[in-house]
Amino acid sequence: MDEKVCVVEMVRYSLNQLVSEACDRCHPCSKAFKNLLAILNRIVKGLGEAGDLETLEIIANRIQSQARCEFGKAAVTPVLTSMRYFRNEYESHLKQRCPASSCKELGRVSEGALKLAA
Ligand code: SF4
Repeated sequence: MDEKVCVVEMVRYSLNQLVSEACDRCHPCSKAFKNLLAILNRIVKGLGEAGDLETLEIIANRIQSQARCEFGKAAVTPVLTSMRYFRNEYESHLKQRCPASSCKELGRVSEGALKLAA
């Protein structure tokens, strides 16, 4: 991977694949995965909101501590690790900029839509 790869999109894509593999037997994994994915989907579309990054961390940490199997615990590692080492990339997306220039929907959202999403 190089600077042309968007870390946020890579994490979103990876989580999207994993969500379908969760067995839905316990709450942290089955419900919280979908919440994490919903936030990441919004962020890469330019609809991220203040507080989203903190919410991502809270949910991911909760999954890691409460998941009943190693799949659930490991699945959120990309979220937590990327937020630790590439937090500036997440923050850029909240300002409608993708450092890798790969999230094409960023910057296309009108002010009105941003207010409606808030
Ligand atoms: S943490 Fe493990 S047991 Fe729980 S829903 Fe996820 S995959 Fe299933």
